[in-house]
Amino acid sequence: MFQLRTLICVFFSWSAYCSVNDTIEGIPSRKDILKLANEASNLLHESNFEKSFATSRLALHYALALKDNYLIAKSYNTIGANYEELSEFDKAILYYKKGLEFANLAENDTVKNWINNNLGNIYCFEKKNHKVGIPFLNQSLLFNEKSKDTTKIVYTKSNIAWAYFDINQFEKGKPYLDFVNKYSLKYGHESDLVILNMLNGMYQGHIKDYSKADLYFLKAIEIGQKTNNGVDLATSYLEYSNHLFKIEDFKKAYLYLVKYNQLIKEINNSQNIKRAKLVGINIELDEYKRKVGTITAENSLQYQNLKKSKVIVVLFIIVLCVLLLQMYTLYKNYLFKKKVNLDLTLANAELIVAKEKAIEASMLKSQFVSTISHELRTPLYGVVGITNMLLEEHKELENSPHLNSLKFSARYLLSLINDVLQINKIEENRIVLEDLTFNISDEIEMIVNSLSFIGKNHNNTIEIKLDDEIPEFLIGDKLRFSQILINLISNALKFTKDGTVTVFAKLIKTEGIKYYIEFKIKDTGVGIDKEDQNKIFDKFTQVGRKEIDYQGTGLGLPIVKKLLELFGSTITIDSKLGEGSTFTFTIAFDSDLKKTNEIINNMEVDLSSGQVFTVLIVDDNIINCMVTQKIIEKRNYKCIVVNSGKEAIKRLENASFDVVLMDINMPEMNGFEASKIIRSMGIVTPIIALTAFNKEEVIEEALSAGMNDIIVKPFESYVLFKTINQLIYKDSEPLNV
Ligand code: ADP
Repeated sequence: MFQLRTLICVFFSWSAYCSVNDTIEGIPSRKDILKLANEASNLLHESNFEKSFATSRLALHYALALKDNYLIAKSYNTIGANYEELSEFDKAILYYKKGLEFANLAENDTVKNWINNNLGNIYCFEKKNHKVGIPFLNQSLLFNEKSKDTTKIVYTKSNIAWAYFDINQFEKGKPYLDFVNKYSLKYGHESDLVILNMLNGMYQGHIKDYSKADLYFLKAIEIGQKTNNGVDLATSYLEYSNHLFKIEDFKKAYLYLVKYNQLIKEINNSQNIKRAKLVGINIELDEYKRKVGTITAENSLQYQNLKKSKVIVVLFIIVLCVLLLQMYTLYKNYLFKKKVNLDLTLANAELIVAKEKAIEASMLKSQFVSTISHELRTPLYGVVGITNMLLEEHKELENSPHLNSLKFSARYLLSLINDVLQINKIEENRIVLEDLTFNISDEIEMIVNSLSFIGKNHNNTIEIKLDDEIPEFLIGDKLRFSQILINLISNALKFTKDGTVTVFAKLIKTEGIKYYIEFKIKDTGVGIDKEDQNKIFDKFTQVGRKEIDYQGTGLGLPIVKKLLELFGSTITIDSKLGEGSTFTFTIAFDSDLKKTNEIINNMEVDLSSGQVFTVLIVDDNIINCMVTQKIIEKRNYKCIVVNSGKEAIKRLENASFDVVLMDINMPEMNGFEASKIIRSMGIVTPIIALTAFNKEEVIEEALSAGMNDIIVKPFESYVLFKTINQLIYKDSEPLNV
């Protein structure tokens, strides 16, 4: 019933807002949208709700697209007013409130004023919720005051006064009424005078000035009748009737109540017609309402989507950055790997070249080693052989320390050559210790004697301190053991002057036939610095060497260490600079009387063979021939010596021999070639290769040439006779490598 008061606000200041004409593709200009919005308001004013809805929906659609908060608020306000007009108050409030949201963003006081006013009216006069409504009206008043628009102020204040009177808060409403009384004539509309007089009547009634109240009410009714303002007139009738009822003038009160009812009936009738029309268009109207709802929903959906797509964009950017970073890292890695690969390929190529060179060098070294070994062993065979011959032929010299030293030195030199040349083999653990019976006391004494000339050079005294508990005969590799002692004692003598070198041998424990003997080689010489003590066991290491006359290879201690490893032992050193050194190690030798006797007996059997065999010696080296011949003849064997393979073949054609001792390295025809020819002639006489080569180097060729065994020069004579006996008696058993 008060909708018209509301609608008035919608029409305020159509032209109050005007701005630049922005244009976006596909969207009308701002000016056109404003036009549309105004048209929607006009249509509403004409009660053409259908068109008003359609137009305001379109205006809202464009306003949203243009993101123009003022136009959005204005469109929502029109939609809200449409709903209010159709008595759908809750929806009206909903759209007013949406409009207010955008109005606040628009910072446009006019539109804020409209919506606050509309919300105040709807809450106060339709929802009868004055508590919520009055603050909206007050808010609207603030904007009016700000714009200094007295007409609007008068209008809003009359609404506020009415709202307070409605809830019997006359004193609160009074100041507003006073203001309206003061300015309404000048600024108010004529139609508003009905309400103004009615409000004054209400107030006078409240303060019990009934005659004044009568006057005001009657004036309101008079103006109402004159201006044909049905709704306001009906309200005046009702309020006057209420007043008369309060002052107990029931007759008059009834009269005005009847008038009110009649007028309301008339108004309702006309409204019913209007409403009847509305029913007809409601179906279409619903469609527009729905569309308006859709726009709003779409808008919020768009907003949500925008938010979502913003998040997606941010995530996408982050993922992209991470991927780019990863790609960059991968690329960097790829470049790095490529470079490393290139370096490695180059390094590999270099390594391959170096390896090939190393293999070549190693082959050359092996060849060199082989040649040197042969060339050194050949004359040494002579030295050892002739020494033996001297000792055997001149029994009076048997006890000559010089001759014994010569023999021992020759043997030592030979084994040293073997060790130096075979150091690689030692490292490859290809040396197997042999079991030989020996007299430990004799062995040590022999070593000491052989080295005593070094001792004398340096004016040293050599002492041997042997534990009585040690058995006389031990079983073990006496040659390797001798090498160890020779190396250590000769070092002690070399690095000591005017001092004493003592060799200790002490039985520390026994386990069955195992006798653990601890050896100490102690000197009072120069000593070795603490930090050098570990280095001296490395190959070719010599420390603190000052003596110009000192000759050494730096191989002695490494050989000692390796040999002791073969014995399952280690060496320790205790030394102080200037005070001397002590080298200590323990070897477990076997001591088994039965085994010892067996070995000795075996040797005796071989050596005491009464058989007389005919031996053919083939060797181009005259001295070696002489040595071998002497050894053979000493056993009363018959012996023929030839100096070439060809000669040997001739001899074998014409005479028979029990065994052939064939040198390998001979000019014109070597031992292998000669043996092959001999075998091709069908001669089966055992052939033993006597060679200065290592056994492993020649074994394959010897076998394929038809040879039966190999003996490496120089050799112990009993080994030769044992081999000869075995071959003759056992009818050429397969070669035992
Ligand atoms: P070489 O004696 O042929 O030089 P070694 O391997 O036997 O080689 O010894 C290595 C080094 O250890 C020697 O050069 C010497 O400096 C030191 N050395 C060895 N034994 C002794 C010792 N008894 N007293 C002092 N120094 C020694």
